[in-house]
Amino acid sequence: MSTPVGRFAPTPSGRMHLGNVFAAMIAWLSVKSRGGHLVLRMEDLDTQRTSAEFAETLRQDLKWLGLHWDEETPPQSQRSAVYDAYFEKLRDMDLLYPCYCSRSQLHNVNAPHLSDGTYVYAGTCRDLTEEQRAAQKRQPSWRVRVPDREFSLTDLVQGPYRENLLTDCGDFVVRRADGVYVYQLAVTVDDGESGVTEVVRGWDLLGSAPRQMYLQELFGFDHPQYAHIPMLMAPEGRRLSKRDQDLDMGALRNRLRPEQLIGVLAHAAGLTEDAAPISAKELAAIFDWSKIRGKEIVVTELEKLYG
Ligand SMILES: [Zn+2]
Repeated sequence: MSTPVGRFAPTPSGRMHLGNVFAAMIAWLSVKSRGGHLVLRMEDLDTQRTSAEFAETLRQDLKWLGLHWDEETPPQSQRSAVYDAYFEKLRDMDLLYPCYCSRSQLHNVNAPHLSDGTYVYAGTCRDLTEEQRAAQKRQPSWRVRVPDREFSLTDLVQGPYRENLLTDCGDFVVRRADGVYVYQLAVTVDDGESGVTEVVRGWDLLGSAPRQMYLQELFGFDHPQYAHIPMLMAPEGRRLSKRDQDLDMGALRNRLRPEQLIGVLAHAAGLTEDAAPISAKELAAIFDWSKIRGKEIVVTELEKLYG
């Protein structure tokens, strides 16, 4: 078997919070427990919200946790020329067309998407004539035509998942009207060019896997193994999020040693018997994917994070 290649692809838009730490930890454990290679990539397509300072703090926080990476690839904000080339590939395959629909038109005409609350595109602009296109005033977004075909995967955590791209999703946007490439295209290109063999991320992104699998096919990349991990919940059933500022890395690093933080997360994930301090390296020796299940895990020993 070849060396597993994993990745951690955070958005540098603020301090890492507990959920980001968990995602980074599991991605790291999965590859490092099998002697693999970890790629770090900053997902900063949204240049308004992200910054180089946040990216640097993120690197320092990962090092503090003991989650070292083998390689950092260029941030997405510097890769538009690369994305242009893949966009042109789609155009050469005659799979792209301009979409002039406004946001309100999209909401009125289209049915809700199965998985992520977006809308199934009805194909309004799919077959416009050249004259109809020339008459449009609006800057178009660009959509890729999807086949009437089911894409299926077996997620390492969530199990089987399938979606017919035409009926469950519709032709989807790959480049926005302002020229910015969307997540689906950028992620597919970046993971593909980095030779990523496994994608570990929150289960809320499971519904985007079929679109990425379709683009992987078109671009000639192998499909990675997907692992969509549970979200972290507080004992009272609330989702832990960026809003819990006393659980961001700035606050956590003031109160805890890295082993204490990793110990609590490892126990919540079912990897250890108790929440005793443990290093990432020690945890890699006993890491087991089969213990991580479901869409939510409760951090029962949350109080330990408050020192
Ligand atoms: Zn349209």
